[in-house]
Amino acid sequence: MTDQSIHLDEQLLETYDDTLSKQGISGERIAKRLSLLANIGLTEDNGSRRPGFSFLEREAKDKVIEWMKEADLTVSEDGAGNVFGRLEGKKKNLPAILSGSHVDTVPNGGHFDGTIGVLAALEVAQAWKETGYTPNKPYEVVVFTDEEGSRFNGGLTGSEAMVGDTDMEKTLLRRDYDGRLFEEVIQDVGLTVQDYQDTGRDLSEIETFVEVHIEQGKKLEKAGLPCGIVTGIAGPYWLKVTFEGLAGHAGNTPMDDRKDALVAASAFIQAVSTLPRKVNETAVATVGKIEVNPNGTNVIPGEVLLSIDIRDIQLDSRTMLIDHIIEAGKEIESDTGVRFMYESVHDVAPAPVPENLQKQLAESCRANGIEPFALPSGAGHDAMIVGRHVPSAMLFIQSKEGISHNPKEWSTLADCVQTVHVLKHYIETLQKA
Ligand SMILES: [Zn+2]
Repeated sequence: MTDQSIHLDEQLLETYDDTLSKQGISGERIAKRLSLLANIGLTEDNGSRRPGFSFLEREAKDKVIEWMKEADLTVSEDGAGNVFGRLEGKKKNLPAILSGSHVDTVPNGGHFDGTIGVLAALEVAQAWKETGYTPNKPYEVVVFTDEEGSRFNGGLTGSEAMVGDTDMEKTLLRRDYDGRLFEEVIQDVGLTVQDYQDTGRDLSEIETFVEVHIEQGKKLEKAGLPCGIVTGIAGPYWLKVTFEGLAGHAGNTPMDDRKDALVAASAFIQAVSTLPRKVNETAVATVGKIEVNPNGTNVIPGEVLLSIDIRDIQLDSRTMLIDHIIEAGKEIESDTGVRFMYESVHDVAPAPVPENLQKQLAESCRANGIEPFALPSGAGHDAMIVGRHVPSAMLFIQSKEGISHNPKEWSTLADCVQTVHVLKHYIETLQKA
């Protein structure tokens, strides 16, 4: 624990043009709230540390609950600790529009990832209160539990529970960074396995989910735009690959009599880097981990293990990319005699954002004088999980230098406020449909 505090609001307001605060939306309020949350779990580097299911995440949720009440929202909580602040619409019994994100962070994270999405959703409700606007449809601000997954090396825990996608058997076996079992950890913050198991909403009660999040990339900064429309969220697919050659003495084995697994693997890595652009401009593939055996200076590598992370926002192009990668491996096998083996170890389906939602968001950008800009999300978000069941969209806010999961994470208040205007316009547009 440190006694230091951070005055994020002062830094944010320094460059802020107050004319953006209008129609009930207040830049100052957003800055103050960001600052209050930033001081919960403040690290020595002026970053944030609020692991999922911790007292600090709980404290941040409790702060948000105060603000939900201030905006006249009715607060409820499910068995996974997801918090909902609901405003009834003029027309009863219509499905609700949901917006929000998370307040947990990575071990030394920033002050915008997650929190700005929650505050943006809240600001819409607060602005409505101040201008006397009541939506036709119910509106809910949501705070999802444990999005980052730094505690159990997982993530998206709360949103998965809400949509009923939790694999309870697996979840109960999980141990956190201190070796404690899931059941024990959630009891700390007043949750029980029984309630957790029973979590899950009737998804027909939700019409649309929209999440505001920082970009965590540089596309919007390069384009000079406050916000952009996410076209889809890339689901990761991990392939574990083994090249099996023949280890031998580096001095005694002639070059034409070798089955060098590392030489084969290098050709493969090169091939992998050229394949994504053949299937889709949003596709990516990364060899991020490699192990050479026996890994000796004077030994021809007999075995190479490597892992590939393959992503795209569309399932069919991602599948095509996986096929191309496997084909490349097989070709190298027949060229070199080094055996190629592969195994799928992780598969999260990508979530494309429905086109009608993207179009409506583009209209809301235009209505606020912002040129619509489409971009994919390489990272996973709660909207990816919710999007499997409910039409879900995302707005990204420009991130300075694309830095995230780092105390240096930064978005200007002007960009945040402009995005809130787009979000508010979008949610109001949905009232007519
Ligand atoms: Zn996030």
